Parts: sequence; C-alpha cells; structure tokens
Amino acid sequence: MALRSPFWSANQRLQRAAQNQTAMKQFEPDQAAVKLLQQALVNTGIGPLIKVDGIFGPKTVAAVGTVQTRFNMDRDAGVAGRQTLGILDILLQGGTIGRDLAQSDTVLAGQKVRAAILALNLLKISQNNGTTPAPLTVAALRTHFRFTIAPATISVTRQITGRDIDNMLLRYNQLLGLFAASATRFRTGVPVNGINTAAEAPLNGPITFGPGFTNVNSHFGDLIGPNSRAAILIHEAVHVFDSQSGINNDTHISEFDPAYNIQPADRALHNPSSFASVAAHIQNNGDPSPRFGLGPGARGL
Ligand SMILES: [Zn+2]
Repeated sequence: MALRSPFWSANQRLQRAAQNQTAMKQFEPDQAAVKLLQQALVNTGIGPLIKVDGIFGPKTVAAVGTVQTRFNMDRDAGVAGRQTLGILDILLQGGTIGRDLAQSDTVLAGQKVRAAILALNLLKISQNNGTTPAPLTVAALRTHFRFTIAPATISVTRQITGRDIDNMLLRYNQLLGLFAASATRFRTGVPVNGINTAAEAPLNGPITFGPGFTNVNSHFGDLIGPNSRAAILIHEAVHVFDSQSGINNDTHISEFDPAYNIQPADRALHNPSSFASVAAHIQNNGDPSPRFGLGPGARGL
C-alpha cells in the first residue's frame, strides 16, 4: 500500500516512512517531508498551532502522539510511521475512520436487519395461516441458509421450522440492540489480525474497526462502500453473539466462496455471512451480484 492523498503522495521520504522504512521521528533530517507532515497535522486539526518549519521538534512529536491516542493506535513516542501517516492520509482526503464511520453505518445496516426481521415475521404469519409466503423471502432463505418451505428434496437443504425462524429473529434482534449500543460496543483500534484488517470481533465483543474501515482509498486498502460496510457490521455483530460462528470450522464460509452455496442449513444458521447476505438480499429485492462485502468487485459497493 501507499499514501494516497495528492497532498503528499509524491514525497518519497513520506512513502518510505509509511512502510516503516524507516519511520520519521525527532531530528528527522528531511525538512521537506517534515514540512508536509506538519502541514498535514495542521490541516487535519490534530495540531492546529504547529509551526510548519521542517524541524521535527517536541511539538510535532506531541501531535503525532495525539494521532496515536485519538485512534487507539500503538503508542510509539512521537514516531510517525505506517499507522500514523496512514490515518493522516485518510483525514487529508476527508475520510472517516473506524468506529466513527461504523456508528453512522448502523443506520443502513439497521435498515437491512429490520427488512429481514419484517420478512421473517411475515413468514411466520404465513406459516401459521397456511398462506403463500413471499417469494423474495423464500428465495433469500433458500440461497443463504439452504432452507426450504416445502419438504426438502436436495440433501444440503432442509425444511424450515418455526424454531429456525425464531432463532433467526432472535439473532437479528440482538444485532439491532448491539447497533443501538455502538457507542460502547464499537471501538477503533489495531486489529489483532493486522492493521489492514477492516474489522474483527470476539464473542461478547467489542467490535474493533481498524483504520482500514474507511470510506476513501487509503494506505490500508481501497475504500469500502456503504453496502459492503453494512455487510461487515452485520457479520461482525453475529460473531459477538454466536460462539459457533468462529473461523476454524466448517461454519465461517465467505459469501464469495462457492462452498457457501452448498453449506448445509444447520451450519449456515451460525454463519455470519449468511445473516449479512439474507438481510442484503431482502432489502435489495434480490441477491446482489456481486454480493456485498470484501470479495472480488464488491468492496466499493
Ligand atoms: Zn467473520
């Protein structure tokens, strides 16, 4: 990756520093690069009073530390490297990072989850009344959970039960509760899986959003569009509630993996990607192609 903002992307010293080869720190001799760093700290409001003089002194050190503190990055006493420069690069482009962006994305993610909840409630009513269920709901459940309404004829599918519907409703309602509590359950930070990881969540949370969870092209990856960010929110939120949704088994299969389409229903019921994709399918009035998320061609959607 590389710094993307035209403000400083042509500066080779800064590009090397952004790869930690080597990071910039106090007494950095390249004054042109230091001036750009100082101007970036001023322009982004991190250090509005810094003198843009090309001298990497204590005030520049302190402002670099402010970036690291504000975004929960690794503290590296005033050293401007990959994390700090990458974040400034996003801010210079007017981008939003991590939890701040994820919190605003709970609106769209919540709309999708509510669409799924409504569809499941209507399905429940039609099951109870013996009326014909909505074709969109039938298709979404068949595609992403391998559930059928009539008795199943293909081995990976099975007929849905009232209990299945209730389990899905419970999960989706838990997600809405989590989104409503995003101020305390979401955080910006350095993901355990690496700085380029957009988001991750252990059982019980919190959900950590890395600086790569952003709405502009960045040092950490290309931008992630609103629908794909909503898919990430729903996916990670399932991890918070379901101990069987983890990654080291036959459950956590990406919606971009051909194996996803033949995952048996009893495993799909714990697959975070299935919950994200059903909600998207219903709100989108059809299975999006490509599906939303971090797969090929989908990232920017
Ligand atoms: Zn996951």
